[in-house]
Amino acid sequence: KPRILSGIQPTGSLHLGNYLGALSQWVPMQDTYSCNFCVVDLHAVTNTKDHKLQQSSDGLREWTLSSAALYIAAGIDPEKSNIFVQSHVSAHSELSWLLTCTCPMGWMDRMIQFKEKKASKGDNVGLGLYSYPVLMAADILLYGAEKVPVGEDQRQHLELTRDLARRFNDQFCTGSQYKKLCKSLSLPTYPVFREPEAMIVKEGARVMSLTDGTSKMSKSDPSEASRINVLDPPDVIRQKVKRCKTDNFEGIIGAEDRPEARNLITIFKAVQPDRDPAEIEASVRDMNWGQFKPVLAEAVIEHLAPIQKRYEEVRGEEGYLEGVLKRGGDRANEQADETLKRARAAMGFVPRF
Ligand code: ATP
Ligand code: MG
Repeated sequence: KPRILSGIQPTGSLHLGNYLGALSQWVPMQDTYSCNFCVVDLHAVTNTKDHKLQQSSDGLREWTLSSAALYIAAGIDPEKSNIFVQSHVSAHSELSWLLTCTCPMGWMDRMIQFKEKKASKGDNVGLGLYSYPVLMAADILLYGAEKVPVGEDQRQHLELTRDLARRFNDQFCTGSQYKKLCKSLSLPTYPVFREPEAMIVKEGARVMSLTDGTSKMSKSDPSEASRINVLDPPDVIRQKVKRCKTDNFEGIIGAEDRPEARNLITIFKAVQPDRDPAEIEASVRDMNWGQFKPVLAEAVIEHLAPIQKRYEEVRGEEGYLEGVLKRGGDRANEQADETLKRARAAMGFVPRF
């Protein structure tokens, strides 16, 4: 089976965007692909001191465990897929360094997401945030992932991953020396890295902020009111939907340029995957905002209820989650070490005696 790798940063409680745009899309992939789903805690710490993570390490610990539990609650089956915590596999950090040393600065200077974050954070931007795409390349290349399900915002980082893989292979994995070395160490002789392909998640799965229909819902938005968390209790969801931003047009469907309206309808359809989208639109066409909002809130609550219930079960069963992460981490370490061993050897590091 072709391999897939994807992950979410434990920078907060997971929200509807993470669920609709990532988690729920992963579930059906489990039958077609050999999947690695990772909680990318090493990425989470790239946020500098202005971020809530730095206020308490309890945050990182709890969000890491709750994210992993939500993977399972949302339908990732630990029997089919590998669920693990990134920092449990030290090969991520090590390969990241090896790739850092082969990466020209000019390639990093082109990264749009860093430029944007730097523009908004100023001096609070750390070195880790700058080199973040190299760590992401290491994540992907360690497992020889053929496909990487990502949002449009990650396309450039995936392109960088391909460039880094090609550069490393060209620089270190051609020539007879390399083949001889591999044979002497009983390692495969093909180039170390596979160039991955992006699997861009479909457009409808992009969820926007409840307070601004033009920016995406995200964990790092300081306003709790901007997002619905997967674990929000029903009353909190009702309140957030009630207060969310809307517009002054009559009716909730139709007319161009209505980012908030479009977003709420997108959410309404996404949480009712078994209903026909056209029929859904017809059913709310004649409503005003005051009528639509409670209907939307109930649909979201109903969709999240079974996930919340499973989440409680996963967290409640003594030792279960730890066992899943232990097994997942062991399997991931096995795969990753093999790649790392070859990368080290190709660069000329003396193998461990
Ligand atoms: P942060 O603000 O810390 O970056 P985030 O909410 O952007 O958090 P990530 O951990 O960066 O979440 O992303 C995890 C996954 O969720 C990625 O696959 C990303 O494409 C997806 N994702 C994040 N936000 C949304 C959204 N609003 N709509 C759809 N998918 C999203
Ligand atoms: Mg993000």
